[in-house]
Amino acid sequence: MSRFISKRYKDITPYIPGEQPKDRLYIKLNANETSCEPAPGVRRVLESSRMRNLGRYTEPTALEMRRLAAALCGVRPEEVLAGNGSDEILGWIFQTFFMDASVCYPDITYGFYESLAVGLGIEHHEVPLKDDFTLDVEALCHEKSNIVIANPNAPTGHMVPVSDIERIVAADPNRIVVVDEAYIQFHNESCMPLIRKYDNLIVVHTMSKAYALAGAHIGFAYGCQDLIHDLDCVRGVMNPYNISDITMAVGCAALRDQAYLEAHVRDVEEAREYTTTELRELGFKVLDSRTNFIFLKHPYLSGEEYVRELRERGILVRRYPSMKRAENYVRITIGTLEEMQAVVAATRSILLCLAA
Ligand SMILES: *Cc1c(COP(=O)(O)O)cnc(C)c1O
Repeated sequence: MSRFISKRYKDITPYIPGEQPKDRLYIKLNANETSCEPAPGVRRVLESSRMRNLGRYTEPTALEMRRLAAALCGVRPEEVLAGNGSDEILGWIFQTFFMDASVCYPDITYGFYESLAVGLGIEHHEVPLKDDFTLDVEALCHEKSNIVIANPNAPTGHMVPVSDIERIVAADPNRIVVVDEAYIQFHNESCMPLIRKYDNLIVVHTMSKAYALAGAHIGFAYGCQDLIHDLDCVRGVMNPYNISDITMAVGCAALRDQAYLEAHVRDVEEAREYTTTELRELGFKVLDSRTNFIFLKHPYLSGEEYVRELRERGILVRRYPSMKRAENYVRITIGTLEEMQAVVAATRSILLCLAA
């Protein structure tokens, strides 16, 4: 650390992303990504003449991409902001609205919320999930702080109905509720229709998961025009050309191919059902998931052991030792059917060794 670092960042620990080891070939199921290629139009765009002409700045408001994203959700471009992943979007939201306030989120959820709150010096606290890891809707209705909810939640995969979200939003119009719908495309009900009804609601989407585009890192915020205007002002101050021309071309191509998206989602869901059934048969408690990952634990095999043994067999998955209540749970991203057959086979061999 240099002696020049700002006081605020002296004791900071960066968010820990899923590891990317290169010592051997792994089946990588630790970051909810995919080994599948994105929509064919994405490759065409990357090979096109547009990509040989990058001497100019991109159009700063990413209007072309916001138009497409808005149309898909039935809203206007003024109700959408584009960012480099929902992570950048969440960063703008925290900076724009929470700096003089406080924010809360569940104790078992996406770790980046905590990372942002700490990094920006924003007052924050956790609202524990109930014992069965479902959202404590009642507690959140009484909450005076701004609220961030991942729905479906990560890493549990659990989803609450839109009516519950609406109760939380409506309970107090003087704080903002952010609903992070990173997994919405996996046949989940979106609370997008509520953004016209409530001016204290922001919905966040990403192309990293169902669109198979984590490497392009594109995300969106949706909300009433005033909220999006404020966010856009902060974006304009911090990074006016945040979306590169490459990113925009790729994002537009993928948004235009909804048939590909649906086919990919169907493949993931099929592989998820296969994996869930097989692992339950092997004695695991697998939470019902509405996403591209599952959250599970075994009565005799600790989470730590399971992760280590899978790793030795060339498979990377993730656990959350800092979330004490979920210490023995493991999160496995749903890859291709072949990748998931390898997970089931490896798990069977681990359990055989354990029994021996
Ligand atoms: C993966 C994930 C994100 C991050 O998405 P990016 O768009 O890649 O930054 C945000 N929220 C949740 C709940 C996620 O699971």
